[in-house]
Amino acid sequence: MMLARWLAAMMAALLLMLAAPALAAVKGGGAVATDVVSACQIPTAADTGAAEMLARPAGPCTPPGRATRGVVWLDFGAPAQLGDGKGLHRLLIDTHRVHRVDLYLARADGSVSHERYDPAAPGRGWRTGGYLSMIVPAGAPVTRMLVRLGDTELITFSRPTRLVPLYADFRMERRDAALYGLALGVLALTIFAHLALFFAIRQRFQLFYVAHATVLFLYAAAYSGLVLLVVPGVSAGGISRLISATLSVATATGLLFSTDFIARRYVPRGLRFYSLISAAASVACAVLLLFGPDGLTAPVYGAANLVGMNGLVLVVVVLAVGAIRGSHTARILGLGWAVPIAIGVTYPLRILGLVPDALVGDGAMVAAVTVECLILSLPVVTRIKAMRLDHERVRERQLVLERQAATDALTGLANRRGFVAAIERALQIGGPSSPVALLMIDIDHFKAVNDRYGHVRADAVLAGLGALIARAAGPGAIVARYGGEEFVVLLMGLDLNRAHTIAERIRAGVCAGGADLLDVTVSIGLAGGRCDGVDRLMVDADLALYDAKRGGRNRVEVAAAAKAAMAA
Ligand code: GH3
Ligand code: MG
Ligand code: MG
Repeated sequence: MMLARWLAAMMAALLLMLAAPALAAVKGGGAVATDVVSACQIPTAADTGAAEMLARPAGPCTPPGRATRGVVWLDFGAPAQLGDGKGLHRLLIDTHRVHRVDLYLARADGSVSHERYDPAAPGRGWRTGGYLSMIVPAGAPVTRMLVRLGDTELITFSRPTRLVPLYADFRMERRDAALYGLALGVLALTIFAHLALFFAIRQRFQLFYVAHATVLFLYAAAYSGLVLLVVPGVSAGGISRLISATLSVATATGLLFSTDFIARRYVPRGLRFYSLISAAASVACAVLLLFGPDGLTAPVYGAANLVGMNGLVLVVVVLAVGAIRGSHTARILGLGWAVPIAIGVTYPLRILGLVPDALVGDGAMVAAVTVECLILSLPVVTRIKAMRLDHERVRERQLVLERQAATDALTGLANRRGFVAAIERALQIGGPSSPVALLMIDIDHFKAVNDRYGHVRADAVLAGLGALIARAAGPGAIVARYGGEEFVVLLMGLDLNRAHTIAERIRAGVCAGGADLLDVTVSIGLAGGRCDGVDRLMVDADLALYDAKRGGRNRVEVAAAAKAAMAA
């Protein structure tokens, strides 16, 4: 319960962070709307030079294409943000599979400056959120800003280009740091907690879950730029690949976890098999993205998108089928998946202009997958708890059975097996050399008792005798029904005279009789020795018992060795 509440609080906090940028955008506050600069793409030959481009009059041009390759010239005209030429700005372009970026600024004083950015340079050109980032230097008011994107693998302008004053960018980065810090922290905690649980109970679904959470952590680490702290040499393109690859693998692990976690009867075999193939395809795309040749990148990106879409649709189908067939787990998993899928569908809608860009903050997917991971962990934790309870029940039942197996049902005393176990325990506590005395007690002519009184009353004699012996022997003794009408008593740490007194007390007690005991008598053999020599003691006591029978019954006989010890 505690855990469920903790998770709920965590989710609420994350959802709040998710909603904050959207609320800010709706209120029209912040720098979100005013940062946007409209660019247009100038269709031109690939080898057109900068001087020629700057000389061209502005327009006609088209809005930047959604998926563009090769050389792309972007004309920003005279951005209002650079009208006074004061202060540094950051130019943020979506997205970043570009190998060369040139920024040309024509200024009111007639100067033209050229800045070259190398996105592939370690740690350069990347900003949290998947933007290509460039500093725009201060100077005289800018009359024309052109950007040349060279060797573009693939650039998708799904988010508008932004020119942000550096101070405002710092504020954005602070918000980002809080969001990603929280998300990464939650994911890391989840991974460690579930890894620990896995080592405790080792279920396959736990492995899938931990793998899923780990891949989501890697995704968040790539998207937030945390990965640069660990591997500073990663280029913007490298991070971009990592983001796509981790999302691809996350679809695979999420799919595998979901199909594995829902009970078999809820997911048709065909669907299970197809999930496996789809997951393998997602992983293959990820591997190709990360380690494949450069020439393959663009088609693999396309394939990864398709396979990813297929994976998400499959998750929805698996969960829907599971839910329709009555799986409660499928419903909860569906709730978890709904969050990233809802954010996911806004991307194409944003490209189509159906959803305002600012409504979904840059880190929305990171927050969404974190919430998803937490929601998915709820049924995982619930199942682990149920398994633990089952385990405890089985263990309890086992203990009851063990106790039953060591107990005699008629007298409630230990049976032969219980007697042996009790001696082993006594050996551990008292040590092998502690002195012990052993009584072997046998009812006289019990066959005749059965014949005369019947088995039921004879059984009552056995029960009554067991109780009498236990009482007489005291709490420290080990008392057992050793055979049909034979009892043994192991007295710990007692000298033989005292043991003899107890034996005599038992004999006399039985002889005096009682309601249950009818008129039976017992013969007792007594032997003494060390705790680790019980086998020898049994033989001695048995011989002494035989002597007692031969001597006329209803008597206590002491084994020869014990007799000598008592005399000394
Ligand atoms: P002795 O004095 O030589 O020991 O004679 P005995 O008749 O007691 O010895 P014997 O070993 O010949 O017979 C033991 C009898 O104990 C046999 C059986 O009828 C009876 N007996 C053993 N176990 C049970 C039991 O659980 N219930 C009942 N009612 N009788 C039992
Ligand atoms: Mg007997
Ligand atoms: Mg007997």
